[in-house]
Amino acid sequence: MSNSTQVVLATGNAGKIAEMTELLEPYGWQVSPQGQFFDSEAEETGLTFIENAILKARYASEQTGLPAIADDSGIEVTALKGQPGIYSARYSEDIYGDQTTDQTNLQKLLDELKSVPQGQRQASYYCAMVYVEYGNDPVPIIGLGRWYGNVLVAPQGKGGFGYDPIFWVEELDKSAAELPKEQKNRMSHRGQALNSLVMQLRRGA
Ligand code: IMP
Repeated sequence: MSNSTQVVLATGNAGKIAEMTELLEPYGWQVSPQGQFFDSEAEETGLTFIENAILKARYASEQTGLPAIADDSGIEVTALKGQPGIYSARYSEDIYGDQTTDQTNLQKLLDELKSVPQGQRQASYYCAMVYVEYGNDPVPIIGLGRWYGNVLVAPQGKGGFGYDPIFWVEELDKSAAELPKEQKNRMSHRGQALNSLVMQLRRGA
């Protein structure tokens, strides 16, 4: 990858755009969100985070003719055999349909774990971050990150998003929603995956 390459970010999430721009621009990469080019979305038909991230990156690259970076992430809970996993954003859609929110997803997870005692509530956030040079690139570059924690019995903290108020970070004695943004970005599954991707891209630069 050359130093002046333009990269499309396959996300509409303002937080992710800011985080990725901050990491990529110092290396001379010009970062543009996909919303500047098109407003449709890739179908996430994969069964893994990696497959879905590749689908999103390929789609953004096909639509723009530019290299693209996409991520896919979620929370997997050991007691639920890895669920909600890739369905984290739509976990409570079976109950709430198009009224599904972060709050309804979080509440469904608490309900599912109602009878699961402390000590058996392990979970981890997982993120796959993918770069493709062009739509049919046969060698996507993949950065992965995993952040271990436990699911609380009730929400705690006001920051973050998604499942953060019930994601307990043992070593800090805090929920992810109680961490300053910079600290969460340093530790998180997404921060780890993005750093890994950036290191690989720099090696190939
Ligand atoms: P996506 O990667 O934007 O598709 O996010 C998938 C879903 O996983 C989000 O809607 C959240 O429910 C959950 N998720 C992913 N990363 C985080 C995080 O850092 N904190 C809380 N929830 C997350």
